Amino acid sequence: MVKNKYLAKSINDAGWNLFLNTLLSKAEEVGKEVVEVDPRNTSQLCSECGELVPKKLSVRVHKCSCDYKENRDINAAHNILKRAELRINGSDFDKSRQGLGTDLRGLVSLEAG
Ligand SMILES: [Zn+2]
Repeated sequence: MVKNKYLAKSINDAGWNLFLNTLLSKAEEVGKEVVEVDPRNTSQLCSECGELVPKKLSVRVHKCSCDYKENRDINAAHNILKRAELRINGSDFDKSRQGLGTDLRGLVSLEAG
């Protein structure tokens, strides 16, 4: 941890840029696309019904009133994939849900922040 907050920000920015450039390069090598999405509430929203299910970071399982239960990170991954599909296809909510859960490897998504 860098004590100078300005220097720390520069180092963090440089680290983020290095990560982003590496990610873009690796994705291109394997013929994948990197899509930046808004990370807000990706772990709080139910990827099945869209309900907001607030939970602390220590709660690792997503449980929704629609009976959907999943690992918190997997639920967030579905939401990130859905947002990436919306950015690429401009599709509506129902269309973007088709195929969810079948192949999270088909798209490299980037969650910033
Ligand atoms: Zn739900």
